[in-house]
Amino acid sequence: MSSSFVASPWLQGLETTRVAAMARMEQSGAETPEEYAAWCGVELRDTHLDGAHGQLIAGPLGTYIVLADHLSDRGRRWTIGHELGHYDMRHPAPPTAELCGPRPTRLYRRCWHRNYEDEANEWGMVFTMPDKVVARFCDRLPLTLDAAEQLARTSGVPLVAAAIRLTEVTFRVCAAVLSLHGVIQWVSPSVRFLMLARPASLSPDTVVRPGSLARRFYDTGKLRDQPELVPAAAWFDGIEDGSWVQEHTIHLDEPGRVLTLLSTPSDVDAERDPLMTPHATAFLRDYLLSSDLALADFNERFLPDDPCPYAPTWLEAFMRTGTCTG
Ligand SMILES: [Zn+2]
Repeated sequence: MSSSFVASPWLQGLETTRVAAMARMEQSGAETPEEYAAWCGVELRDTHLDGAHGQLIAGPLGTYIVLADHLSDRGRRWTIGHELGHYDMRHPAPPTAELCGPRPTRLYRRCWHRNYEDEANEWGMVFTMPDKVVARFCDRLPLTLDAAEQLARTSGVPLVAAAIRLTEVTFRVCAAVLSLHGVIQWVSPSVRFLMLARPASLSPDTVVRPGSLARRFYDTGKLRDQPELVPAAAWFDGIEDGSWVQEHTIHLDEPGRVLTLLSTPSDVDAERDPLMTPHATAFLRDYLLSSDLALADFNERFLPDDPCPYAPTWLEAFMRTGTCTG
């Protein structure tokens, strides 16, 4: 992309993983992680596990995956996909019993070195929600958690995993946010969100602000399972009045844990270039996530120099309802 472009081992690892997962699906004809495990002779054993979801065990008598018997069907499938990712990518140290819940890449803001957990998650996401399936849901307008729930149901995976997968490949300006007891735990931005938003405007470890539905839930315990327009300033720094963001927030199965999908109410230039397949979009997003320099370099080349004629910033142009359609 630039003459100075060097793909980090983190980025290369994720891309290799995506390609491997797609190739394995084709080779095996398996449509689920369970079928793939059977195809490659990895036994699945459900048992009682304290404080863990699963473990991949490679022994002299064969390889098997131990699964906690408290997992839901969706959680079980997710765990199998994750452990098969470790298995298929031949990660050197077999992971110990782990809590492999879905989470976005670059969670810890260090992404130069390979990250086996990110790769295992990616393998599981691509295998359970392949491009041709996720493409049916990912560009809806407005994009809400309804699309994530439909994808989750279709693929038999947890809602959080589907929301992460959607934000990875969507062409919409959106971000998934997970909060716990009023504090943002992680953010999974879409590629166009990354390009338009100031990187610091939505950060993990910050408190969920007044004006958001998530805050209202923490203050009152009440949450309507409906998307609503809320002032964009409830989520983003430095946004003027009159800008709105669509928020869809759902209380997950654990106390105090909520999932939010933020998206812009309008979308300019919303046609996806045919070259930007879900796979290409995921790669580009990880490239932009891989370093702040990559993001700055890319934006310099591809974002218009001219100021937005409709709003102080291009992001806000998408947040002005009904005023910016050209
Ligand atoms: Zn793992």
